[in-house]
Amino acid sequence: MSTEDPRRRIPRTDQLLAHPRVQAAGEAMSERVVRDIVSAAQDRARRGDITPEQVLEEILAAVGERPAASLRPVLNATGVIVHTNLGRAPLSEAARRALADAAGYTDVEFDLATGARSRRGAGARAALLAACPEAEDALVVNNGAAALVLATTALAGTGEVVLSRGEMIEIGAGFRLPDLIASTGARLCEVGTTNRTHLGDYTDAFGDSTGCVLSIHTSNYRVIGFTSTVPICELAPACHQVGLPLVADLGSGLLEPESLLPGEPDARTALRDGADLVITSGDKLLGGPQAGILLGRREVIARLARHPLARAVRADKLALAAVEATLTGPVPPVLAALRTDADELRERTMRMAERLDAPVVEHDGRVGGGGGAEVPLPGWAISLDEQLAAPLRTGDPSVVGTVRDGACLLDLRCVPEEEDDALVAAVLAARKRTARIDPAADTERAVAPGTEEDAR
Ligand SMILES: *Cc1c(COP(=O)(O)O)cnc(C)c1O
Repeated sequence: MSTEDPRRRIPRTDQLLAHPRVQAAGEAMSERVVRDIVSAAQDRARRGDITPEQVLEEILAAVGERPAASLRPVLNATGVIVHTNLGRAPLSEAARRALADAAGYTDVEFDLATGARSRRGAGARAALLAACPEAEDALVVNNGAAALVLATTALAGTGEVVLSRGEMIEIGAGFRLPDLIASTGARLCEVGTTNRTHLGDYTDAFGDSTGCVLSIHTSNYRVIGFTSTVPICELAPACHQVGLPLVADLGSGLLEPESLLPGEPDARTALRDGADLVITSGDKLLGGPQAGILLGRREVIARLARHPLARAVRADKLALAAVEATLTGPVPPVLAALRTDADELRERTMRMAERLDAPVVEHDGRVGGGGGAEVPLPGWAISLDEQLAAPLRTGDPSVVGTVRDGACLLDLRCVPEEEDDALVAAVLAARKRTARIDPAADTERAVAPGTEEDAR
């Protein structure tokens, strides 16, 4: 026998699992995850990638670094407020606290005074009705798409949903609202043309098999030029004359008019104009968690709530808690970012640029994610070397800017002000990393991919 097989020195699984620091890791991660980490390190030693002596070291490094979930917090320096790739609306402090409070056992469907079962999410409903007094009732479901599916399924069944050809929209990542509606078994009855639809187009289509009329806000594009659409205030009386419910999918989540976004419809106005049911998302301009919010007439909401599908799309207790807290708490971050004072933003950007010895350039922010299409939000950005984009993204904290014309632009509109020091530190660290990795930085530039919000 020549030399001993080094693989015999690989520590045994039970020994590794018994190590105090591996045991301690068990408080933050499941036994299966810990076991997987242990066996991965053993496998690497068996393959000769590491020595048997390095096995424990590697396991300790892995259990020490590993956060409970893989989603990492990001500083959004893109200037896009509702950035779908970055999780849409950041929650307010009030909503974050409410989420944590609701995370354990909670009275989501229980009346603590009487000890009897109660209506699920009564607090979120009450907050919605207080914020939107035009609604007689409210229902919260999983997201805007689920709200649309529930509404068309409950109101049209296998009948027809009347919809203008100008409103057949794709909301992003390939999801098309007409396909979504058709998937429920309802039949789409398209009326009008891409650019012009008149009231007569709708009324001509009304028949025995019509289940409901749908008006969808074209949230992510504009048709301009020779156009005509039928406003809710004209469509509603025509629908009601023949007893058809009018559903308005507004998308953006505004409950009342926002002066900075004059083209954006809001729930209160739509209901006042006669819509029987309004659909909005919770995590767009409402500034809350992912949710689909249905507001409208009592009988219509009751029909939806009674439908078996309502159970499949219902909101979870965390979303209900966060919706309520978003509505009853102070102005949520999304609206604060939208209403940022341009002069203050400029001052703040200049101060940071000075610390970084970098120029400031004009940079328009955007609403993003299903709202304010084409509305620029004038602002500024710090212009850094393009090659910093990648190390900024992978640094700690992770910073996502916009790569444009050979520069990495950092827009502070959506960065909480208390993170300014962390952002400066992240840029300095990224500069250090690029200097180490690429000493010839000035001649050979690494091209970093930009960040463009792709989906709504
Ligand atoms: C965003 C949007 C939806 C989808 O809402 P989600 O909450 O993303 O499911 C539906 N309709 C319109 C008009 C939208 O803008």
